[in-house]
Amino acid sequence: MKTITVNCPTCQKPVKYIPENEFRPFCCERCQMIDLGAWAEESYKIPVTPTAEDLDHLMDELDGQDESSDDRDSKQSNGYRWQ
Ligand SMILES: [Zn+2]
Repeated sequence: MKTITVNCPTCQKPVKYIPENEFRPFCCERCQMIDLGAWAEESYKIPVTPTAEDLDHLMDELDGQDESSDDRDSKQSNGYRWQ
């Protein structure tokens, strides 16, 4: 079976579009949450594409909130390290 690869809408990293990837078309939960967060914000603001600065800001916020779940994240992501 041919595997379709897409680019993560958040970070543009190539992602295999397979059922095993529960976050597809995103590369990871973090990118999915960033995109959902950006989308929710846009729904009551001007509909513009988030800038790189916006994404940096969102990632900083997620990093700050996510410290307690780092262990769980690294186990779920098959060794993929965010940094
Ligand atoms: Zn990504």
